[in-house]
Amino acid sequence: MKLATKFIHAGAAPDPSTGAIMTPIYQTSTYVQEAPGKNKGYEYARSQNPTRKALEDALAIIENGKFGLAFSSGVAATDSVIKLLNPGDEVIAANDMYGGSYRLFSKVWERYGIKFVYVDTCNTENVKTAITANTKLIWLETPSNPLMNITDISSVAAIAKKAGALLCVDNTFASPYLQNPLDLGADIVMHSSTKYLGGHSDVIQGALMMNDATLREKLYFIQKSCGAVPGPMDCFLVLRGIKTLHVRMKQHCENGHVIAHFLRKHPSVDKVYWCGFADHPNYDIAKIQMRAFGGMMSFTLKDDSAAAAMKVLSSTQLFSLAESLGGVESLINHPASMTHASIPREERIKNGLSDGLIRLSIGIEDADDLVEDLKQAIG
Ligand SMILES: *Cc1c(COP(=O)(O)O)cnc(C)c1O
Repeated sequence: MKLATKFIHAGAAPDPSTGAIMTPIYQTSTYVQEAPGKNKGYEYARSQNPTRKALEDALAIIENGKFGLAFSSGVAATDSVIKLLNPGDEVIAANDMYGGSYRLFSKVWERYGIKFVYVDTCNTENVKTAITANTKLIWLETPSNPLMNITDISSVAAIAKKAGALLCVDNTFASPYLQNPLDLGADIVMHSSTKYLGGHSDVIQGALMMNDATLREKLYFIQKSCGAVPGPMDCFLVLRGIKTLHVRMKQHCENGHVIAHFLRKHPSVDKVYWCGFADHPNYDIAKIQMRAFGGMMSFTLKDDSAAAAMKVLSSTQLFSLAESLGGVESLINHPASMTHASIPREERIKNGLSDGLIRLSIGIEDADDLVEDLKQAIG
């Protein structure tokens, strides 16, 4: 089935009690049982909810997986993956990833005896070198946040398999419209559904998708035991968001192309980080594992100072200064003081994330208006 059809029909079935075409918001905490142990498959809403079930079925389908699980946030989904591990286990993670993932790993999970090793995963040799007998999980983010580095998923999947470790890919930036890590050998795909899946900046939610039934059972057990489940209203919103994912992504990509090329030609702009440029260091891999290049990008000015960046950040009219991404409206962000503030400055600079870096989430407004806005803001 083609993407557009899949995104609209994924997980959708008329509601059995009324025929409602949209799965209703089952706003209930419990379900009445006919007799002790005799029920319709629903006992208590932390464990099962029909709205969540419809969403989880859709999540599986859009990532070409067998199973999907929805969580109360992206970090709750990430947290659940780490809970598969035991003290003494090691994780190899990308050194250029979402600041909140780094915070969760380094500030929370390290205290429980799980070791994290951060490497530049773009060079897959670094991953190979970091493998030890205790490596149980490899955590990738591609394209990465905010520098848009690309990691070869298939090649890391082969390394993980050989080492007997799980591979989890944070696919938030690409969305299932651009890339499907399970098809490339990943064991788990993670999404912050808050971003492109929801798409309208009105919900916080996370997702995990997988093919292995045993892995699904373990993660479902963690979901139910730890309780980071989304409410039915939020499930409804993400389910609705998925129905227009392809139309939105097409426009995000088109606008992204226009803005990236505009920035690149601007005399005050130094570097533009966008994986659709033919001279992007990982363009060959991006072209193979992604269908297009998306609407996320970062750039630096020739004056790569926080002060110069601040001037642009406070001058845009259409681009709103905000964290987050993937909504219909364009956002502008200062990673050093906003999304990536939890990474120590020294670590941040070492990884190429300068004080002057500006990140854009290109929305689906008219591209000409977006260009005009950036033009007046950069000056
Ligand atoms: C936002 C984000 C997360 C965290 O998701 P929340 O829904 O905010 O908890 C994880 N990874 C990436 C790449 C993100 O952009």
